Amino acid sequence: MKYFILFGPPGAGKGTQAAKLVEKFKFKHLSTGDLLREEIKNGTELGKKAKALIDKGSLVPDEVVEGMIASQFEKNTSVGGFLLDGFPRTTAQAEHLDAMLKARGEEVTSVISIMIPDEMVMERIRSRALIEGRADDANDEIIANRISTYHAKTEPVIEFYKAAGKYQEINGVGTIEEIFDKICGII
Ligand code: AMP
Repeated sequence: MKYFILFGPPGAGKGTQAAKLVEKFKFKHLSTGDLLREEIKNGTELGKKAKALIDKGSLVPDEVVEGMIASQFEKNTSVGGFLLDGFPRTTAQAEHLDAMLKARGEEVTSVISIMIPDEMVMERIRSRALIEGRADDANDEIIANRISTYHAKTEPVIEFYKAAGKYQEINGVGTIEEIFDKICGII
């Protein structure tokens, strides 16, 4: 089984690219953000706890997202591959994913990182707020918290995958098609 990870700061275009990649390669798309928003929509206990953290721009606890990913791996046994989007977001999650895959005799195939500068993160999230109506996109203070959380907790994941020889970075400034072509080249 192939396990691709789409990595990058909020607003880098991971969700947009994931939708196109799923269409082309028939991957199973696993976005922890989407899974959490689904829990919130369904009013579950998990959703209620997650909402308070998401609305502040903070991360939900590692065990919560790790559990969601594990159950998706169990549910989707006959897919051609997985495309992970927004996970792992901490080094602990990356380590946990490695252990989870190792137990199945598998490993991460490749990490594709879409990089854009911080100024562009702000700009892109502000325009996404107008289209998708996400509460955590609508407020500059929350966006700023997500950017600083990304630098403090998520950026170290880059070194983890560099050390494993699995990290590939592309410049995320360009048209959707340009970025898509670069990602397809890697896959
Ligand atoms: P996203 O849709 O990927 O931008 O995620 C939206 C929000 O969900 C994030 O700001 C976090 O609060 C939460 N979230 C999503 N994925 C994770 C993760 N892997 N670890 C912790 N929190 C997450």
